[in-house]
Amino acid sequence: MVPTHCDACMHAALVDAELVDEGYGRCARCGSTARVLPGESYGAQDQSLFSELEATVAEAGLTPLRAIQLAVALDNRNTLPGTGLKQLAQLLQSSSILELIVMNEPLAMRKAEGMLATLLEAIAAGRSKSDAVPSAAAVAASKQGGHSG
Ligand SMILES: [Zn+2]
Repeated sequence: MVPTHCDACMHAALVDAELVDEGYGRCARCGSTARVLPGESYGAQDQSLFSELEATVAEAGLTPLRAIQLAVALDNRNTLPGTGLKQLAQLLQSSSILELIVMNEPLAMRKAEGMLATLLEAIAAGRSKSDAVPSAAAVAASKQGGHSG
């Protein structure tokens, strides 16, 4: 299963890798072409978690810039599994993310972090065809460096 994103209806979903052709699959919601998102691939058992997180992110109605900021926060996950999730649970007011934290299973939390990073980056890229949006790396660099000179 690979994550895809439909730019027509902004729906992200896991699709069977066999149904993907040259980086594109089919959106189950509206039937448009859905592009495959960079990131990990998942098992069929991960589908419910992915769609829960997709709904959470969609309901939050994030702007591309906000999505990038959250993706950057998640990117600091080289500490403990769940650190990025805790931040997101507060920012998105998400009970599904909170449940993951309460269960305290490192593998599940790590997986959710990867999914959320993929979803957030899709929002950042999908809604910004005309505008130049800074990459997550650029935002992180400006945060750390501040203004010099
Ligand atoms: Zn669609």
